[in-house]
Amino acid sequence: MSAQIISGKEISAIYREKLAEKIRQYPSENMPVLAVILVGDDEASKIYVRNKKKAAAEVGIGCEVMEFSSTIGENALLEVIDELNDNPHINGIIVQLPLPKTLNSLKILSRIRPEKDVDGFSPYNTGLLSYNHPDALISATPKGVLELLLSTGIELEGKSAVVVGRSNIVGKPMAMLLTNHNCTVTLAHSKTGNLPDIVSQADIVVAACGRAKLIKAEWLKDGAVVVDVGINRMDGKLCGDVDFEAAKEKAAFITPVPGGVGPMTVAMLLENTFAAFCRQQSAQACDYGNHQCGCGKCCP
Ligand code: NAP
Repeated sequence: MSAQIISGKEISAIYREKLAEKIRQYPSENMPVLAVILVGDDEASKIYVRNKKKAAAEVGIGCEVMEFSSTIGENALLEVIDELNDNPHINGIIVQLPLPKTLNSLKILSRIRPEKDVDGFSPYNTGLLSYNHPDALISATPKGVLELLLSTGIELEGKSAVVVGRSNIVGKPMAMLLTNHNCTVTLAHSKTGNLPDIVSQADIVVAACGRAKLIKAEWLKDGAVVVDVGINRMDGKLCGDVDFEAAKEKAAFITPVPGGVGPMTVAMLLENTFAAFCRQQSAQACDYGNHQCGCGKCCP
């Protein structure tokens, strides 16, 4: 029997609608605002940023895009981040990746104050994730993948999972998140010797390696749940890291590309921005001593 398709497009629309409803409860002069730093002329990055801005507007989140030439110096960029950190009207800050090679991504991302780091890429937030701490702002793509897995209704606890790809922004946080949900996780990468064997033992497969149709149907366990993060072009068409047409005859659930993880990533970024906004509102209320935010943590 053919797999059930997990539609990130439909699920993300529900998340965005719920989020818009929550944001509508706030007065229009007090809305969440996201700042996006875009460096250089990468065409794909420009499209991603445009999509984020449009999606933010649709749920009522302000989005300020700051564009810089690829020749901007590291110190100048760090100063921009410092200003955004100190600006009380900005609730979330993201730096669109990849940055030009002349800039040290770790240094730049580490400069974003943890409570405004809505991409969750800073070492502080990835550290909190490794502690399974509730305050962690979790990077949007792995968080979106988790929501897609939960949407199937399958019990994650005790399942074996393989994550193919170990990048700092997708693979590693994904493996950590699944571990926190009591899966037994194998993190595979380009030096993994026996990938087909490893995949064949997994109840859950998350493909995030950026290799078009690398994961074959015959590698999959019958009834596996397959989430495809990859975005590749093959013969002029978009495709994922999984050979979708064949794999959907073997899996129980599978995400398409496009229309799977991509829309969830954007929805989760917006959720993180709203979460950051709410926390900052609470902290502000307490700083002013009126203790009315009702957050239950900082207010009695
Ligand atoms: P990345 O930084 O290039 O990392 C790719 C990872 O895949 C690396 O860990 C690499 O291993 C591993 N890999 C490469 N070839 C492999 C192979 N033949 N077998 C096993 N592992 C292999 O990429 P990324 O930023 O994590 O993104 C991965 C994919 O997801 C890309 O297609 C990207 O466009 C897509 N993406 C989609 C979204 C979304 O919202 N849908 C968001 C982010 C990324 P090594 O570490 O050994 O080099």
